[in-house]
Amino acid sequence: MPRSESSLLSSLRAAIPAAVLLEDDAAIAPLLTDHRRLYQGRALAVALPRSTEEVSTLLAWCNVQRVGVVPQGGNTSYCGGATPDESGTQLVVCLARMRRIRTVDAANFSMTVEAGCTLAEVQQAAAAAERYFPLELGSAGSCQIGGNLATNAGGLNVLRFGMARALTLGIEAVLADGRVYTHLRALRKDNTGYDLTGLMIGSEGTLGILTAATLKLWPQPRSTATAFVAVSDVAAAVALLAWLREAAGERINSFELLPRNAVELALRHIEGVANPLTGNHDWYVLCELSSFADEALDELLEAALADASAAGLVQDAALCTGERQRAQLWRLRENVPEAQRRAGPSLKHDISVPIAALSEFVAAASDWVRLHVPAGTLVAYGHAGDGNLHFNISFPKEMQATQVAELEPIVRRAIHDLVAAHGGSFSAEHGIGRLKVGALERYSSPVTLAMMREIKRALDPNGIMNPGKLLAAASTS
Ligand SMILES: Cc1cc2nc3c(=O)[nH]c(=O)nc-3n(C[C@H](O)[C@H](O)[C@H](O)COP(=O)(O)OP(=O)(O)OC[C@H]3O[C@@H](n4cnc5c(N)ncnc54)[C@H](O)[C@@H]3O)c2cc1C
Repeated sequence: MPRSESSLLSSLRAAIPAAVLLEDDAAIAPLLTDHRRLYQGRALAVALPRSTEEVSTLLAWCNVQRVGVVPQGGNTSYCGGATPDESGTQLVVCLARMRRIRTVDAANFSMTVEAGCTLAEVQQAAAAAERYFPLELGSAGSCQIGGNLATNAGGLNVLRFGMARALTLGIEAVLADGRVYTHLRALRKDNTGYDLTGLMIGSEGTLGILTAATLKLWPQPRSTATAFVAVSDVAAAVALLAWLREAAGERINSFELLPRNAVELALRHIEGVANPLTGNHDWYVLCELSSFADEALDELLEAALADASAAGLVQDAALCTGERQRAQLWRLRENVPEAQRRAGPSLKHDISVPIAALSEFVAAASDWVRLHVPAGTLVAYGHAGDGNLHFNISFPKEMQATQVAELEPIVRRAIHDLVAAHGGSFSAEHGIGRLKVGALERYSSPVTLAMMREIKRALDPNGIMNPGKLLAAASTS
């Protein structure tokens, strides 16, 4: 017989200190919907634990009561991963109060932080110790390091430093039954069996709650050079990337591709941005080199771009003349999603293909969009240095949300099929969440899916952790 909401709440209140539950409806409301407003959920309650012990108590209670748990960080997920379902029976567990920087070990180039620290706070704490934490996302001020690890976030510096998993030495996590897995060892070498830390990272709250992490640090960059480059097409951009890698080696940390319409959207909708290049160009690259030593990187980048221009790969280029212009260009790039949001509704696809296949994929997928979605405009931009594009289709502001929603499954299927045909991934960096559960089932091999389900059953036999996210809820029980 289903238990009543009030008897469950009484039992929860008896299990944890009163201060852990958020009781203010106005404060709860934004936590029940996702960043893109795709989902509107309800919750049994919202908990804001202050310590790993309190997270453990909450999960042990949920496991006994068979109450679903939705871990939530900064709630910036693009695929509804941190939003409860519509049943009103799930407990949202927000990590926002667990934001202690536990240690920064400058000599070991590592730091241990609690999951609720925002990414910006982690970066600042590293910088205060003259160290550098290279994860960089447009949402750095709101997303939390726990959410970054739970989604294995990518961002602007993956080309050189890798995704969140590659930046992590160890974690502390509470498992579904309340046990605490502590592996906060700051070791570069630790070859002791299964990579459980790696498994928990990217599990999107479906195997447990991350409460702390030990992260890798680097020296602070001492030299940087940034350029905005016009190229004729995607093939030229891909060739330019190889050219710069040969000229600058590991110094190249960002290589972002922008079509002309993405630049125009940002210029129209975002204050304080400017295009340093004149003339009409179809594609632009924002690229950045950095070095931990004092190096003449401007000269290196300028010479490499001049050679690339002589080889016909570059139409025009502007080297940043100072920090102000650099910040302006990154502001332009990071605000393309916001400009797109202001311009009207859109369909988003976070895809990747092998870099060598990028040009062919963009040509095939653009042809499909032109033919089948005449009302839409393709705005395909992103971390091309990683083969990752946000292959988005924008619609006019006056187009009804229902019309866009009708197109969504057909467009998504066609784009994802083309991605698969080019050896790519339908989710390059944003994860699966609730939005892409069906796509994971469609594009994963039966063995891959079976392994994921077996791991889920072993670590969460009652299926309480983030039900219906990543794997279909039915397969978790
Ligand atoms: C402007 C903007 C730019 C962005 N740019 C990028 C980008 O370049 N690259 C990129 O990868 N993403 C990007 N994102 C998406 C998003 O910011 C990332 O996915 C981020 O890592 C999510 O962190 P969060 O704290 O907001 O997590 P949430 O949105 O709160 O949660 C995301 C998922 O992680 C789970 N989770 C959260 N915290 C924990 C925890 N402590 N333990 C276990 N599970 C947890 C949730 O249940 C959910 O499944 C961007 C988003 C915005 C709004």
